[in-house]
Amino acid sequence: MEQPLLELKDICYSYHSLEGETAALSHISFQIQKGEFTAIVGPSGCGKSTLLSIIAGLIAPESGEIVFHAGGMPDAEQAQSCTPAPFFPRIGYMLQHDHLFEWRTIYQNVILGLEINHMLTPERKERVMQLLKDYDLYKFRDKKPGELSGGMKQRAALIRTLVLEPEILLLDEPFSALDYQTRLSVSSDICSIIRSTGKTALLITHDLSEAISLAGRILVLSRRPATVKCDIPVRLTLPENSPLASRNAPEFKDYFNLLWKEISDENHRQPEFSGTI
Ligand code: ADP
Ligand code: MG
Repeated sequence: MEQPLLELKDICYSYHSLEGETAALSHISFQIQKGEFTAIVGPSGCGKSTLLSIIAGLIAPESGEIVFHAGGMPDAEQAQSCTPAPFFPRIGYMLQHDHLFEWRTIYQNVILGLEINHMLTPERKERVMQLLKDYDLYKFRDKKPGELSGGMKQRAALIRTLVLEPEILLLDEPFSALDYQTRLSVSSDICSIIRSTGKTALLITHDLSEAISLAGRILVLSRRPATVKCDIPVRLTLPENSPLASRNAPEFKDYFNLLWKEISDENHRQPEFSGTI
């Protein structure tokens, strides 16, 4: 088997506060292959966002290990670095809210990360323009975020993330602030963009249909402290390769019923002692 891009080995994490300890993650282990689109579902409050924050390096696990293999900085930057730098994965993080700055235009928002990282070369500017054209935002590049729809703003947020050429995209319920119809088309668009760029993506969602239609694999987490309850490969017979159309695949409802059962079992299970005082 190919070497995975990302490996989580026995990750545990608890929050500590004056009220006591809240165990969030318990012995989480899994691997993600390059190019894989994985969804993570689980009961509310089980530790999904905590898990992404740990993968993103925003918080350190209490025990266990996270290993990123291969890739790293693009060649040019790696060549300029004089120390044998440890592998530094480029991580793109997309959250529920687009976090676009209202005082900057869409173009200025999209190039923000490139500016901050001193990466705004003429080639990259050209790529930004191409992405704006590809995702129907070129005409709106001089508008402020407030003049765009929720779906357009999420597409702009995705472009802002993609221009930094992330090795892996972490998406924490990125569509949940959108209304249902917008959500259907934006999630389908964004998934097609991610697939067409061959990016590795990890999507947290509480929408089971969204997980089945977008991802090639679904990890189900147990209630808190989260463990990996099951790891389900999704294989749909697709008339056309569109996430939206995949909802009509004959296997769709079987996956839905399976996930529904797994999550309902978790919601009805008595909470285990979590260490919370
Ligand atoms: P999810 O994303 O699955 O809804 P989270 O990862 O946000 O869950 O949170 C997991 C658990 O940890 C929840 O019970 C939450 O209340 C608790 N938690 C999250 N952040 C903190 C924090 N900063 N301090 C204390 N407890 C926290
Ligand atoms: Mg969350």
